[in-house]
Amino acid sequence: MRIARYSKDGEVAFGIVEAAAESADSIEIAEIVGHPFGSIEFTGVRHPLSSVRLLAPVLPSKVVAIGKNYAEHASEMGGEVPDAPLIFLKPSTAVVGDGDPIAYPPSSQRVDYEGELAVVIGRLCRDVPVSRAADVVLGYTCANDVTARDQQKTDGQWSRAKGYDSFCPLGPWIATGIDVADLAVRTRLNGELKQDGRTSQLVHKIPDLIAYITSCMTLLPGDVILTGTPAGVGPMQVGDEVSVEIEQVGRLRNPVVAR
Ligand code: MG
Repeated sequence: MRIARYSKDGEVAFGIVEAAAESADSIEIAEIVGHPFGSIEFTGVRHPLSSVRLLAPVLPSKVVAIGKNYAEHASEMGGEVPDAPLIFLKPSTAVVGDGDPIAYPPSSQRVDYEGELAVVIGRLCRDVPVSRAADVVLGYTCANDVTARDQQKTDGQWSRAKGYDSFCPLGPWIATGIDVADLAVRTRLNGELKQDGRTSQLVHKIPDLIAYITSCMTLLPGDVILTGTPAGVGPMQVGDEVSVEIEQVGRLRNPVVAR
């Protein structure tokens, strides 16, 4: 199932993206009652997908991100994967959706893409054992952990470098019921392949990340975990278009504009 959040005629709703009943070539969005955290009930209203504007699929209370969780990326950054997951927060105000611009701040000379698999949490949870981690996952989406690389180095910690408005594109929707053990994660800049990793290369696996994070902080429905980026990070320029595509999930596309 693919769960999207969208606006149509000034109204915001969640819906399920699916083939139209009359033609599998025609994709529609079937509106649901309220939110997707809990049982899903349809309103009966349907729209052609092309007639709605997709929004970030959730509005998280927080985005918890993992640093250096692919060995080749840790190596290209001049280090190794830490023994325990390295966690940091991105503010909820950094979140934007598919098609929304990434705003390049004038204070940075080096803004990088980081394509990542994102986990969307489905229920309030804390102290989740590894064996029950799957129970708290609603689904998965594509993320770009946009980073002002120069400021990440000079600031010493990462809140500013990774916290600018628009530095957390998420989307295009939440894919549920999929096995994410070995999916391709590909980032393209203006169509050119820049990152080509697989989720099987994640050093700290998703159940371990959920157990580790919730041993520290409560996660709420809609909170998001960015699982780390594969090798191949690099800079973007104003005028570029960046895409993050994850097998069985979808493709997240964002233009880069001057702030
Ligand atoms: Mg990252």
